[in-house]
Amino acid sequence: MSKLTDLTIASALTGLENKDFTAVELAQAHIDAMAEQSNLNAFITETPDIALKQAEASDKRRASGDAGALDGIPLAIKDLFCTNGVQTTAGSHILEGFIPQYESTVTQKLFDDGAVMLGKTNLDEFAMGSSNTTSYYGNVINPWKRDGDDTDLTPGGSSGGSAAAVAAKICMGATGTDTGGSIRQPASFCGITGIKPTYGRCSRWGTVAFASSLDQAGTFARTVEDNALLLRSMSGHDPKDSTSANKDVPDFLAALTGDIKGKVIGIPKEYRVDGMPEEISALWQRGIKWLESAGATTIEVSLPHTHYALATYYVIAPAEASSNLARYDGVRFGHRAKEDDLTDMYEITRAEGFGDEVKRRIMIGTYALSSGYYDAYYIKAQKVRRLISQDFLSAFEKCDALLTPTAPSAAFAIGENEDDPIKMYLNDVFTVPASLAGLPGISIPAGVDSQGLPLGLQVIGRPWDEETVLKVAGVVENLAQFTYVPQTVKKAAA
Ligand code: GLN
Repeated sequence: MSKLTDLTIASALTGLENKDFTAVELAQAHIDAMAEQSNLNAFITETPDIALKQAEASDKRRASGDAGALDGIPLAIKDLFCTNGVQTTAGSHILEGFIPQYESTVTQKLFDDGAVMLGKTNLDEFAMGSSNTTSYYGNVINPWKRDGDDTDLTPGGSSGGSAAAVAAKICMGATGTDTGGSIRQPASFCGITGIKPTYGRCSRWGTVAFASSLDQAGTFARTVEDNALLLRSMSGHDPKDSTSANKDVPDFLAALTGDIKGKVIGIPKEYRVDGMPEEISALWQRGIKWLESAGATTIEVSLPHTHYALATYYVIAPAEASSNLARYDGVRFGHRAKEDDLTDMYEITRAEGFGDEVKRRIMIGTYALSSGYYDAYYIKAQKVRRLISQDFLSAFEKCDALLTPTAPSAAFAIGENEDDPIKMYLNDVFTVPASLAGLPGISIPAGVDSQGLPLGLQVIGRPWDEETVLKVAGVVENLAQFTYVPQTVKKAAA
């Protein structure tokens, strides 16, 4: 039998059911992997004791025939989801020591289905970033290295800890959140699969807010099927989140038929951006051929407002963030500066508690919302956002899904792109438009570059049509046959 940490979620569920191993053994194998690879700094808080307790309970449930859909599966939880009794930091100093007294809806649903929590994963502070270098708790290191080069690379962001932990086989799957690309870009950088469902598919209740009109929970795993399994458990209407949709959750697994005959796949011409590395264009071209060989038709489509997406996002997201983050004043959560004067306490708590990127966004957002500039920036951005959404809806009159690259580069070195925030923001060029339109998107590892680093392809779908997204992704996965393994995993196996 292969190592327990090599299994997919689907095969582990079969193994548990067949009594090949217990949930406790499965949890222990992953706890060992977490300890062996602690140098990746993928976790802010490790919870091995909780994992073992949950695994024991899972074994009992299975023995009495009560196992849930994910019973005994060890997962990592992005430290943006509030977990009852377990510190939740959002990667920020200001939330250090904050122990929620409630469980986020998403994690509750996973636990209700029997999932086991290994720990809370590292992320960019308040999920703001594309490199996991803005976390107060240190950088996450990508388990992948360039061939013959030991330089530490970023796992992408903001859900870098979750992506690194899945890629390094520390956990079988993980939760993430995606506001402008934070699931899809790290999935691409770490050679795994990650899906952001339609805005409203998963409840935001109990998830630390960054930009509420964009934030959406999603999943990471090593296969499309495993993502479908996790997403099925996480999704669904929640009366506690007024933006969660009252829609039935389809059986995402049933969508993975591999049959895309007759589907029309749009290739957005505006995504052929200047300066895109040749290897990424070539990978995209290969992806198009794969889908055609599986019986789909591909057509060029136009999303004319794509060019404005990044600028729009970087007005709207900071504006919402500046408002959401106003609640951190030292009174109710986490860090508090010891000052006698109340105003000093507020000011110094915030000055000490937030990092540079968060402060930058609070300032940009406050400016964009200020009375003299609200119309010029915020309202204008909202209008452009609508045009971007309409571009997609028009494209979807002609096609069933879109295929694009996920990110404009492979993983870069830690420290690279740090000098210039705009350069960092360019990472989101292919992910942000779908976020602004609230659409589902998935990244699938589809190849490696000349330095051996993974590259992802993105499938974007119509609102609420995760089924087509997963179906098309399954075909890409099948034809890409991505069997590369990160160097750290190879080393651990040796
Ligand atoms: N990289 C983007 C940002 O910095 C997206 C982050 C996210 O999706 N949470 O805002």
